[in-house]
This record gives sequence, structure tokens and C-alpha cells, in this order.
Amino acid sequence: MEDVMGYVHSVETGGTVDGPGLRYIIFMSGCPLRCQYCHNPDTMKMKRGKMTSAYELLKDIATYRSYFEQGGGGITVSGGEPLAQIEFLRVLLWGAKQMGIHTTIDTSGYLGKKADDELLDLVDLVLLDVKSWVPETYKEVTGVDIAPTLDFAKRLQAKGKEVWGRFVLVPGLTDAPENIKGVAKFVGSLDNVSRMDVLPFHKMGEHKWQQLGMSYRLDNTAPPSPEVLQAAKDTFIAEGLNVH
Ligand code: SF4
Repeated sequence: MEDVMGYVHSVETGGTVDGPGLRYIIFMSGCPLRCQYCHNPDTMKMKRGKMTSAYELLKDIATYRSYFEQGGGGITVSGGEPLAQIEFLRVLLWGAKQMGIHTTIDTSGYLGKKADDELLDLVDLVLLDVKSWVPETYKEVTGVDIAPTLDFAKRLQAKGKEVWGRFVLVPGLTDAPENIKGVAKFVGSLDNVSRMDVLPFHKMGEHKWQQLGMSYRLDNTAPPSPEVLQAAKDTFIAEGLNVH
């Protein structure tokens, strides 16, 4: 496969939550969503990233192979939105699979139609953010419609592709009982979801919004209490999900 250039925000080695084992994480630039709680708003605009050769990145990834082999890790392509630069993603995934490295993509699923079956065949695990269930809430959170994400989730199920679901609990935004229950029921109905992360809202990215001169709408929102978070997790557990 030929080399492709892409806009990359940054890379991080030693990640432990974005897939199994130790991960080499590639944060791609560019995202069509505008999530209110985004903690990487500097990845939203593609051209803020650095033009990078997929082959150069693969050379760097190759130097970590022994770590992956020992710890059962691999690469996670995150963002931003990895599906926004599909040909760059294809070369990265292909190169990683050539080296026998486990591959994960971390996506909202909104651009799922861009991922053809050949690309999905290069992906071992999909981290799928289901940011809400009630369509109006989904739009309020992300600025876009929920339907493409649901279609992508169903397609991944039809392909038998392993998925870890993700949901961020934001008090006053995503915490309505019908919203939580809707996500839990939908994800619980899929038989290819091996794990569900229910994550508490946090403000770690707030300063980045300020630095970018963008207005941050959640400055008066506090993280959920441990009890409230546990209650949300229980809703997912009740749907038979392996909740973290
Ligand atoms: S999908 Fe991710 S990167 Fe894009 S705006 Fe939402 S949280 Fe930020």
C-alpha cells in the first residue's frame, strides 16, 4: 500500500484505557462533531494538526512492538475522529496488521459509512461512543444526528466486530433516566459488545476551550457524584453489560 499523508494532533505511548494492554495512541485531527464536553477541542479542526506520513508513524510504532507483544496491547487510532481521514487510517491499520499488532479505533460512529468492509477487516476492536439516546439530547451534546452512529453499531454487530461501548454521564445534559436507559438498552441489545465504559464528566479540557477562544458551556456543571455514577452503571449492568 502506498504512503499517505494525514493531519495528526499528537501521539501518546503507554495508554492503558483505550483498548486492551498498553496502547500507542494516535490522536488524529479533524472531527465533524462539536461535543460540549470534548476534552480535545484542539483536534476539532483538521488543519490544526501536523502533516504526517503514515509510513513514518508506522516506523515509530514498530519500535514499540516488543511492548505490545509482552503486554497484549497495540495501537489505538483516536481523535478527533479517525474516520475523517479514511485513507490515512487505512494505511496505518494495514501497516499495523502487517506487523501483527492489535488495532483499535476510537470513534463516534458518525462517519461509519466511510469505513468500507476492507477497512473494518483491519480493525480488531472498535471503541464506540454512544453519546446519548434521546435524539434531541444527542444533537444538543454533539451538534449532529444520532442515526449514523446507530447504523454503524448495527453494522458492526452484523459483522461480528468486537466493540467496547462508551457513554459519558454529564449532570444536567445526558443524565435523564430515559436517555441513560435508552443507551443501555440499545447497547445491551448488541451481542458484540464485550465491555461498556460509563465515564463521569470531567472538566480536564476546559482550559483548552479558553485557549482556543471557544465558549465552554459546561463551566457550571460539576462531575457526577460516585453514587449517581454508580446508579447509571447499574442501569447498564441490568442490561447484561460488562460495565467498567
Ligand atoms: S467526537 Fe470526540 S473529538 Fe469529536 S467533538 Fe466529540 S469528544 Fe471531541
